[in-house]
Amino acid sequence: MTSDIRNVIIIGSGPAGFTAALYAARANLSPLVLAGVKWGGQLMLTTDVENYPGFPEGILGPDLMQLFRKQAERFGAQILNEDVTSVNLKSRPFTITAGAKTYNSKSIIIATGAEAQWLNLPNEQRLIGRGVSSCAPCDAFFFKDKKVVVIGGGDSAMEEALVLTKFASEVAIIHRREGFRASKILFDRAKKNEKISFLINSVVMDVLGKDKVEGVKIKDVVSGQEKDLSVDGMFLAIGHKPLSDIFKGQIELDEQGYVRRKPQGDGPGKFQMTTSVEGIFIAGDIHDYHYRQAVTAAGYGCAAALEAERWLENQND
Ligand code: NAP
Repeated sequence: MTSDIRNVIIIGSGPAGFTAALYAARANLSPLVLAGVKWGGQLMLTTDVENYPGFPEGILGPDLMQLFRKQAERFGAQILNEDVTSVNLKSRPFTITAGAKTYNSKSIIIATGAEAQWLNLPNEQRLIGRGVSSCAPCDAFFFKDKKVVVIGGGDSAMEEALVLTKFASEVAIIHRREGFRASKILFDRAKKNEKISFLINSVVMDVLGKDKVEGVKIKDVVSGQEKDLSVDGMFLAIGHKPLSDIFKGQIELDEQGYVRRKPQGDGPGKFQMTTSVEGIFIAGDIHDYHYRQAVTAAGYGCAAALEAERWLENQND
């Protein structure tokens, strides 16, 4: 156990975590970032990022995260590539165990994010960023006049498919059963779109292609028949999992495991990024399942750090 008490510890190192670190460092709070062994978040799994403002030519996801990290470090954020194994949020100072050490902190910013669910097919991970994607708004642009498939039968699948029709020539939604859980309005919109077709009772067995996606192997779960479809892209829309397991039972989560945002106070001084535990702030996809963009996550990171700073000042009054 380290005896010193930190002002703020940031858990997570995507755009939300590093932006929070940058702002907290510039506020002289000497933040510690527990970045995780696999640091950098979801952008580390992408290739070109063309919708992050300030990079008119686009930038590779991992390069962008290196820049985020460097900028936070420049102002004195301490960043450790350690996984947090447990937290105690029941009393202050809070404690966080990562690696072989336990840290104390007056406040915490949770920016652990969410991860897209994958099918875990033999060649899926290898082809992420090479035709396999979990984000149509990010990657649809690369599929101009191409054929793509979207996997899933929920609202995300419908939305991803509709976004893709703006660029792709054909979009097939592959769903494992007959019934769709998507809301009627989105389902109807997808059905009406001439570019969208549906392949029901079908599961994807593997993604085909050496350096980029060239097709998918699908199986009809009723007949048992397998066939190869020639496509240029596969978009997963089978749900996201918030990375909140270590907080279970200590902070309010919603039914899907996202940390519940609980604004506190009134008027212009209201805290927006607060939670059920005073002193714990949130930023990014750990609470936001709506926008899920790097730029919105960064914005939340900034807001969380400004609020942590203000809250810490109030503690000293
Ligand atoms: P979801 O509603 O949980 O749907 C996931 C879909 O993926 C389901 O159709 C499911 O099939 C399928 N699936 C899951 N695991 C699979 C696997 N291993 N293999 C094949 N298929 C699999 O997730 P979501 O669409 O991301 O939506 C999450 C929440 O956000 C929902 O509450 C949704 O309404 C909301 N949302 C709303 C909007 C909007 O209103 N504009 C847009 C997006 C999301 P089964 O149906 O067979 O289980």
